Amino acid sequence: MRQNLAGLSLAEIGAVFSGRNPPLPAYRAAQVHRWILNGAGSFDQMTNLPAHLRAELSADYSLRDTRLEAVLENEEETIKLRLVTEDGNALEAVILNDGKGRHTACVSSQAGCPMGCVFCKTGSLGFSRNLSVAEIIEQLYYINDFLVKREKPPVENIVFMGMGEPMLNLDALQKVCAILFTSENSGKNRGVPLFSKKRITLSTCGLAAYIRRFAEEGPDVRLAVSLTSGKEDLRRRLMPGSSSLSELKEALVFYQEKRRRRITLEVVLLSGLNTSREDAAAVAEFASGLDVIVNIIPWNPVKGLFFEGAPLASPGKNQVVRFCDSLRTYGVKTVLRLRKGSSISGACGQLGEIRKVAL
Ligand code: SAH
Ligand code: SF4
Repeated sequence: MRQNLAGLSLAEIGAVFSGRNPPLPAYRAAQVHRWILNGAGSFDQMTNLPAHLRAELSADYSLRDTRLEAVLENEEETIKLRLVTEDGNALEAVILNDGKGRHTACVSSQAGCPMGCVFCKTGSLGFSRNLSVAEIIEQLYYINDFLVKREKPPVENIVFMGMGEPMLNLDALQKVCAILFTSENSGKNRGVPLFSKKRITLSTCGLAAYIRRFAEEGPDVRLAVSLTSGKEDLRRRLMPGSSSLSELKEALVFYQEKRRRRITLEVVLLSGLNTSREDAAAVAEFASGLDVIVNIIPWNPVKGLFFEGAPLASPGKNQVVRFCDSLRTYGVKTVLRLRKGSSISGACGQLGEIRKVAL
């Protein structure tokens, strides 16, 4: 199999090139790396390399480990790119539009997910494997390529909130962020425009030990935590893979002492399960002492998902508004995104509702 270069840093490409026979000089690695950051998907596009070198490089290396299989779009302009890995795993990368032309890329970190949250489509698929650095960063290359072709502005924000639990693939995400934050990324690149650390968010279901590691080692990006319930027993039944509330809270306090960044708490509202005033009080209790903003996400229906024998249901609009109001009466900063396409839940598997468009 040809070695993939898209998931490598400049230094790593340099090492690969200097190990060739005959070795390639360092400036070749810099040229190739710049092309990769510009979204080049083939060596033929690298017009400042001699033709014979382009041919040699394409024989030895690849620039994509994933293949774009389909582009799916709904009427709210949420666009999903379905990618397939070489070993046949299907991935989703989602482009969210805030309605003002700003785009956020929602990126997957695993094929499937082992955490088993009962309300999540990805969780119901089971776990296949962690994605490689290349398979993660290629999602951004495909997304920006798509936006360029549509003459739309590039991605401004990245959320690691697609398929999978990113904390379980932290090593790869650290490398992805190192590539995004490289000094080579000048801001003019078409493939991955310049990103600030404030414009990247990693979302976890709440794994305390990994949150501590994330606090210590980075990547130094924003943190979102899927809380969904502040009641221990209910949360354990809904999100069996996550840490206990007390461990989670300690880890978040530790994170905030280290990084001094506001945390987003995500609360997926499920009708009849976590929408009462007591549920709001429990969320407020968990939030106390932390600098947080709570993001309310009405559950996106997924067919065939049950909780202890009963089908799950989305909350009505009144229920949602009442829940937000309750939280605010406890002094908790709260945001509600009702438009499906603009909420991060757009990432969570609703392919049935989405029509396929030409590539
Ligand atoms: N594994 C990470 C990131 C991916 S899930 C995590 O759990 O945080 C991204 C977000 O989508 C999480 O907040 C999750 O609670 C939410 N989510 C999952 N399924 C959903 C659904 N059907 N409707 C709305 N939100 C959902
Ligand atoms: Fe995994 Fe997140 Fe879905 Fe839970 S909500 S199953 S952690 S992807």
